[in-house]
Amino acid sequence: MTKRSIPTVGIIGAGQLARMMIQASISLGIECRILAKSLDDSAALISPNVEIGDPDDPIAIEAFAKKCDVVTLDHELVNAEGLKLAIEAGIPVRPTPETLRYAQDKLYQRNQFTTLGLRVPKFKALVDESDLLEFSSGVGWPLVVKSATGGYDGHGVWIVHSEADGQALLKRLWGNGLRVFGEELIDIQMELAVLLARRTTGEIAMYPVVETYQKDGICHEASIPAAISDEIRASAENVATIIGEHIEVEGIMAVELFLDSEGQLTVNEIATRPHNSGHLTIDGCSTSQFENHMRAVMNWPLGSAAPIKNSAVMVNILAAGEKNPLATMSDIQSTDTAIHLYGKIPREGRKIGHVTSIGDDRADVASRARSIASKLRGDS
Ligand code: ADP
Repeated sequence: MTKRSIPTVGIIGAGQLARMMIQASISLGIECRILAKSLDDSAALISPNVEIGDPDDPIAIEAFAKKCDVVTLDHELVNAEGLKLAIEAGIPVRPTPETLRYAQDKLYQRNQFTTLGLRVPKFKALVDESDLLEFSSGVGWPLVVKSATGGYDGHGVWIVHSEADGQALLKRLWGNGLRVFGEELIDIQMELAVLLARRTTGEIAMYPVVETYQKDGICHEASIPAAISDEIRASAENVATIIGEHIEVEGIMAVELFLDSEGQLTVNEIATRPHNSGHLTIDGCSTSQFENHMRAVMNWPLGSAAPIKNSAVMVNILAAGEKNPLATMSDIQSTDTAIHLYGKIPREGRKIGHVTSIGDDRADVASRARSIASKLRGDS
């Protein structure tokens, strides 16, 4: 039998991002191997190469990596020592643990970006009781308290209205062993995300700046083009390029930005993997964020990130209780809106899929996407 020369990319984590990476890998001829927590995980459901293992176990990561040509990640909560062991064993990890540290630790990220001269919200590490009083005397109430590590979808973000509430919260968080910091509450006019793919050679593909809509810390919608001036667009892209090059990202990076009521851009946080704001690139851009992520992970030339039509709108399907989106599929007429379901068991508020519409008229595109998402959610 001839030896197969199919590259194997190991993906640590098996959520919907890994699932969509596998989807993109199929047409690229890449084989994916998945390190999942459970066989029910979104990507494990569709992969023939699944291993069950703990992403926090360095030995499990090293052993997994040794069966792959290169390793990438579905989420940030991966043991960095394990990734270093993989690299020592000769398996490239993209992004590297040094790059990943920015996404794993928001406080480290803030400190580094400040040193880089980027505009970030005013912040302060909260280590003892006097820190909160000192910080609030500068930024006033309400302010934001964030966990430095482990947060996602607004878990790990608290808006605090008074010293008493803040001290009670801090007592609880410190009691749970969390490192936390305080942050000024920004008067947000618009939230933006800049996605780029970058590979080892330094080649970059920059996606159109995305406008995102969050509620309670969760992304509900994303759309391109963002309704911003050329000047703000250029400035957002410039910030993303500076960060991508500084952290030497390999793969997709998303930079979340706040545009405040005075028209100033501040960097909220980054992700060093495909990002929810980039799901619209699957149907809305020449090359999806998932394909470009896999290309970058393989250190292959990147595809064009140009939009296909004037406008693309993505709406997340957040589960309404236990209603299953498949129950309403038969009511959805043939549609020019792309449906992406993740195979996840519906639980209140859980992201179980998304839809994307593209077209020339933004209002029409948004209304199509919202209407299909609403049917899939099971809204009456
Ligand atoms: P996560 O990592 O959980 O996504 P984020 O830091 O991105 O947390 O915060 C989630 C959302 O909370 C943001 O998208 C924004 O809507 C709101 N938020 C976060 N930080 C601030 C802030 N400093 N001022 C105002 N709103 C904020």
